[in-house]
Amino acid sequence: MNYFTMRNFITILAVFAMIACTSQKKTGTSSIALNPQNFDTLLDGKEIKLYTLKNDSGITVYLTNYGARVVGIITPDKDGNLADIALGYPDIYGYLKDKMYSGPVVGRFANRIGNAQFTLDNQEYNLFRNEGNNTLHGGKKGIDKCVWNATQSGNSITMTYLSPDSEEGYPGNLSMSVTYTLNPDNSLKIEYEAETDQPTVVNLTNHTYFNLKGEGDSTILDHYCQINADSFTPIDKEWIPTGEIAPVTGTPFDFTTGKPIGSDIDQKDEQLANGLGYDHNWVLKKDSAKAFGFAAKLWEETTGRYVKVSTTEPGLQFYSGNFMDGTIVGKSGRHYLHRSACIFETQHYPDSPNHENFPSTVLRPGEKYTQVSIYEFGVDE
Ligand code: BGC
Repeated sequence: MNYFTMRNFITILAVFAMIACTSQKKTGTSSIALNPQNFDTLLDGKEIKLYTLKNDSGITVYLTNYGARVVGIITPDKDGNLADIALGYPDIYGYLKDKMYSGPVVGRFANRIGNAQFTLDNQEYNLFRNEGNNTLHGGKKGIDKCVWNATQSGNSITMTYLSPDSEEGYPGNLSMSVTYTLNPDNSLKIEYEAETDQPTVVNLTNHTYFNLKGEGDSTILDHYCQINADSFTPIDKEWIPTGEIAPVTGTPFDFTTGKPIGSDIDQKDEQLANGLGYDHNWVLKKDSAKAFGFAAKLWEETTGRYVKVSTTEPGLQFYSGNFMDGTIVGKSGRHYLHRSACIFETQHYPDSPNHENFPSTVLRPGEKYTQVSIYEFGVDE
């Protein structure tokens, strides 16, 4: 081959490569589909696997029984382009090293308990301090780091885990079950149940990070957010609620009508300073304590994508990814930058066992903890 033929050949190859890349970006899931083999492993003698739920409207949800965890959520935008809008890793090794709680069910007590201590029925319990003096998301080895049993039936997967008495300091053998169902209407329903054999405290939630332009995109400050709450629970400098319930009106915490997340996040405000941004619990407006209702909506204008969250829980932790610092590399090889994702954690208020004015998180033998939360995915034209 002479020089000119070679140059033409290379040009033709380059054009083909470009066409292939463009068509993959527009239509295919091939670049964002996860490989189940990358998740097959054994931990504590138990099998870990990747599970897939798919519906006819183009939504794919990936889950693993390591931490009863959401691994990916692939949804179309307003032009039909697919993207994975949940942060995560391409294989189980990423999850075994994970420090940001990417996608799991967190507990036995989601968020923080101040001083890692609480008193129940005159008995003091000391928990594992994994964040300064406090305990966060269940302790050193929360339920996000345990292998759950999983059973798939069509578009539903039920995961169960029995947390033994005194695990991370919590009293009682706590048997938990979490069912994920992908519905034809593009909603992912999460049903939680738990039972105990001794009085204990329970607060479970899901910890999926969202970026509606696709995981690895640089920011969520341009995403709009609406939260169905007139008040929130202010925190101290260690993210522990002070016990106060404060109105959002006239503060950067007012998301009642919807606004870009970035519009007030850098305001001079004591609560934003304490949280390093939004990392607070909003008190959801409810008809009755366990009523199922609208909690929040997140939407992004260029893709049209939205996620709408509804729940039976009294609170919603909205976390704007303030600890993200670009050191973690995700599924598509991109760095997860500061505030490049946010979380909507349907829950009871953090540190409830130490605040009598907060809805109770006590669970006693013979009672059943239940929670239903729905994340509905769609596009606004
Ligand atoms: C908490 C943050 C915490 C993060 C851990 C969130 O639920 O509110 O304060 O840093 O989880 O990834």
